[in-house]
Amino acid sequence: MTVVKLQNRPKIGDVITLPNGRKVEVRDIGIPYILPPNAVCDDPLCPWHGHLKIRLKLLEVTVEKVRMHKAAVVLHEWVHYIRKYNRYERRRRRIHVRVPECIEVKPGDKVIIAETRPLAKTISWVVIGKKEDVTVWKAKHEVLQTD
Ligand SMILES: [Zn+2]
Repeated sequence: MTVVKLQNRPKIGDVITLPNGRKVEVRDIGIPYILPPNAVCDDPLCPWHGHLKIRLKLLEVTVEKVRMHKAAVVLHEWVHYIRKYNRYERRRRRIHVRVPECIEVKPGDKVIIAETRPLAKTISWVVIGKKEDVTVWKAKHEVLQTD
């Protein structure tokens, strides 16, 4: 498993050659407002550089613990409305996620995770980027203006 850090952020479709001669293409994961990470890996279970397909179910979560074998525990917090009392309650859930080799996380980081197929008994989510990799998506806005 090799990870190469890059000087500049690669674009989708760029092909980067690793030191062991393997060529890695930065894939289009289907979410236009998340930029690819600043590193390249040859992890087959990486949404950017491997074959792992993601489902369009995204969450913004906080990293709680970084575990062995490219895994982490994240905390998802949201508010749930209760109509009877006309108030909100806070809910939280811990989710086990896979961390691809090209994305480095540490406890306290805000990351974006996406649902994927079950990768282990408790893991069916993968980290696709950090919060600072998210740009404002203007495509939808432009479509609305032209209509
Ligand atoms: Zn990768």
